[in-house]
Amino acid sequence: MTDLYVVFGNPIAHSKSPAIHAAFARASTQDLIYEARLAAVDGFKQAISEFQAAGGKGANVTVPFKEEAYRLCTRLSERAARAGAVNTLVFNGPEIFGDNTDGAGLVRDITHNLACPLAGQRILLLGAGGAARGVIAPLLATQPASLFIANRGAEKAKALAKGFSDIAPVNGGNFAETADKSFDIVINATSASLSGESLPLPPGLFATGSLAYDMMYGKGETPFMALTRQQGAARCADGLGMLIEQAAEAFFVWRGVRPATTAVLDDLRASLNG
Ligand code: NDP
Repeated sequence: MTDLYVVFGNPIAHSKSPAIHAAFARASTQDLIYEARLAAVDGFKQAISEFQAAGGKGANVTVPFKEEAYRLCTRLSERAARAGAVNTLVFNGPEIFGDNTDGAGLVRDITHNLACPLAGQRILLLGAGGAARGVIAPLLATQPASLFIANRGAEKAKALAKGFSDIAPVNGGNFAETADKSFDIVINATSASLSGESLPLPPGLFATGSLAYDMMYGKGETPFMALTRQQGAARCADGLGMLIEQAAEAFFVWRGVRPATTAVLDDLRASLNG
């Protein structure tokens, strides 16, 4: 029987995950179906129970359910436990295993697709929400020279930094506190551009040869990419590669097969810009 996987979110109609996983399944000759499912904002738990009872093998979870998914799991990967959020579920009888592949996706996109090493680099992470939280431990695992988390609310950034300081030294503060610092890699994990707002980045943030990475993606350059190019970032990238790499990691968790991502990324980029 063909295995069934879904992505739950609200909204979900825009999701590119069904197309990505269909491409992975075709290329790796895996017999599976992957669908997007809308869950009511207060109906995530029920949607999961119904899917599990119907024999669903696994699910991705997106906004706004990642933290609720974390709480529903009967077992967690270490990276999901660290993130406090789950984007990948595996159903095995009554067990619900939760994983978080966002950080692995980000790290793979930067180090592999963009060929930009993270080890020894000074990293600035903008934002202290769910996406930021999910990528901190995987970023630290690459052994950067330093990691600073900047958020418009400094307290949230400081608390987040403290929560990971057992792994490596991490500091946090507001945007103004980055004023006397310089970074090799600046990652935007805020949702500022959703509200059309620009980030108050101090001048002089970007070291020679630096990379500005926006977790957001869309047609052409994102507002963050345009801003950081103006402010001196040598290279700018959006988060489409992260989206595909986190999906590939989830596919690996489910199927034990690591799908090739380059052609899928090229096709998705072309359809986004077409
Ligand atoms: P959250 O809502 O959990 O967090 C949003 C963050 O953005 C908070 O730190 C918030 O600050 C900050 N923020 C919001 N508006 C502004 C603003 N106007 N100025 C400065 N900071 C602001 O969202 P997520 O962490 O889940 O997602 C963040 C982004 O990452 C989204 O754009 C999402 O699409 C993207 N993403 C991309 C992925 C990919 O695969 N490419 C995967 C996951 C996420 P405060 O705490 O002060 O409110």
